[in-house]
Amino acid sequence: MNSSTTTSGLAFDIQLSQARKTPQQRAEILENPGFGTVFTDHMVTIRYTEGTGWHDARLEPYAPLQLDPATAALHYAQEIFEGLKAYRHPDGSIACFRPDVNATRLNTSARRIAMPDLPEELFIGSIATLLEHDADWVPTTPGNSLYLRPFMIATDVGLGVNNPSRTYLFLVIASPAGSYFKGGVAPVTVWLSEDYTRAAPGGTGAAKFAGNYAASFAAQSQAVEKGCDQVVWLDAVEHRWVEEMGGMNLFFVFGSGPEARIMTPELTGTLLPGVTRDSLLKLAPELGVPASEGRLSTDQWREGAASGELTEVFACGTAAVITPVGHVKSEQGEFTIGDGTPGPVTMRLREELVGRQEGTRADSDGWIHRFA
Ligand SMILES: *Cc1c(COP(=O)(O)O)cnc(C)c1O
Repeated sequence: MNSSTTTSGLAFDIQLSQARKTPQQRAEILENPGFGTVFTDHMVTIRYTEGTGWHDARLEPYAPLQLDPATAALHYAQEIFEGLKAYRHPDGSIACFRPDVNATRLNTSARRIAMPDLPEELFIGSIATLLEHDADWVPTTPGNSLYLRPFMIATDVGLGVNNPSRTYLFLVIASPAGSYFKGGVAPVTVWLSEDYTRAAPGGTGAAKFAGNYAASFAAQSQAVEKGCDQVVWLDAVEHRWVEEMGGMNLFFVFGSGPEARIMTPELTGTLLPGVTRDSLLKLAPELGVPASEGRLSTDQWREGAASGELTEVFACGTAAVITPVGHVKSEQGEFTIGDGTPGPVTMRLREELVGRQEGTRADSDGWIHRFA
């Protein structure tokens, strides 16, 4: 990798789609967007070549990629991604929530998978370019947003497995999004996975690496077979310490009323450092709810729920924001958190976070990045 390459000032070549959806077609899609199934008229592509750096930045019509069947990403899974949302604020402007943190995390992931860094101004510039041309796709209905999916793939052609690719393709695609889990804030039932692990020490768990997801689908299917909505991952060494839920971070609420405090599993290197997780660690204390990072075993989870000391549990991530966990199942049995319904701390944090993202609450921490 040539790190001396300077990329600032890279201009986007704009090629507009000749087949844009009509306002009427778009309105129909935005009425019931679902999640991640329909895409906007354009996409961003930027190429990387070792020695040259990032080049050929483009806005193009959204279209299938043409890839040689021997493209490295298809064989050795050199692929990372990000996920963030663009919101329509009440004043009509378009904003993202902490996109700089996504830019930084993309590069943390890139280093773990031996990919090149993408300069933050190119990451932000890609989003700005796409939002400029697909602005009409940002929903105006509160609760809906435009989900942005930046990702990077290795594009060298050949089956040699000894070296990372020397060429890469970075893309941003966008998809209007409604509520991620059907039913909005309906509590989920989780399965504690003891057969499978998501991430081991020294592995790729802290990277937003596509392979982590490939490795999770069997466990997710097992959770569904057990009558659960989502899988909860335990640590790979002792199979005791709670790490994450599916593709979301977890928070535990202890106590209630003015005594309530929240705790989330600490970043041991096997957890994905979520932007939502980080934001809640800062936001909760501003609402008078102390927040900490720590660890919790499956025994402590069950005993806490039984004694009533553990009052609420919720998962958090960009796509679903905050989802209450109502019920827990494992080979050892099952138990309910509180009365199984969304708790007051969960709902208060959700309301404040969503309000800040959608621009109906003050941006006290400077987390909003306005694009247009
Ligand atoms: C993306 C992701 C999260 C949540 O991260 P956010 O930045 O809050 O969206 C949590 N866990 C995993 C495994 C993820 O991939």
